[in-house]
Amino acid sequence: MNSSFKTGKVILAGAGPGDPELLTIKTARFLQKADVVLVDRLVSQQIIANYTSADAEIIYVGKQCRRGISTPQQTINELMVEKALLGKLVVRLKGGDVSIFSNILDELETLAANDIPFEIVPGVTAALGAAAFAGIPLTARGYATSVRFLTSYKSDIVTEEYWKELAATNDTLVFYMSSETILDVVEKLTQHHIHEEKLMAVIEQATTPLQNVHIENLYDFKRKDCEPSFISPTLIIIGRVVALHENFKWLENNATKNYYFKPLNNQLILNNQPEKITHVS
Ligand code: SAH
Repeated sequence: MNSSFKTGKVILAGAGPGDPELLTIKTARFLQKADVVLVDRLVSQQIIANYTSADAEIIYVGKQCRRGISTPQQTINELMVEKALLGKLVVRLKGGDVSIFSNILDELETLAANDIPFEIVPGVTAALGAAAFAGIPLTARGYATSVRFLTSYKSDIVTEEYWKELAATNDTLVFYMSSETILDVVEKLTQHHIHEEKLMAVIEQATTPLQNVHIENLYDFKRKDCEPSFISPTLIIIGRVVALHENFKWLENNATKNYYFKPLNNQLILNNQPEKITHVS
């Protein structure tokens, strides 16, 4: 047990989007001292290998609700409390940043209700990692002055009125957890007459050696009579800024997979990156 902490403490920390070097120095320092690390599905294995101590307890609490494999939030909450009450330094390590689409509220409420001291350490969220590694400035003079972080992982999450606003705005739109509803996103935005010059970037596995960037005009995308299939995790960026990718891309696409459309009724399986997940029950 770490002797510098008399009582237990939980550090809620972001691990960044994939590239292990996008970890903050502060999170690396906490990982080196941690007695227990509760790790999300999208956290790079290299981070665990490089920064945790040999005697730290590493617990995988991955979630991927759409695939029905998931550690219940209740279990994660209980683990945090149980380990902290034993006087341990617990790092709850989440993909990207802790405050973006990450259920942090549940965990904060649990910690507060149990009087457990905590700290929050930010991380590089997927939007920032993907934008940087795709050479797409999220705001740029003459292109966009604001950016919105959105999700449409369920079709009823965005109202019709809001789709209309999203189609009209000059803000850059970033959709998390939305690759499986991408046809919906495109349908709604084109229905509401999004400008032709606003392009869509679909970025798979951003900031990793397997990163792939696909640039599409939304109307062309809609015309293709195919079911798109992307390798998870995938982020969608829509707006005028996406055109800047062509000028400023500094990373080549991963050559092992350079198309993503799965012809309908074809059994081709493109998701060739099986995830290694250990679950706690
Ligand atoms: N807290 C995380 C987001 C969790 S939601 C963050 O701040 O980044 C999970 C979603 O994040 C994925 O469905 C995907 O849309 C996005 N995402 C995370 N890592 C990504 C990556 N390396 N490449 C592309 N998208 C990513």
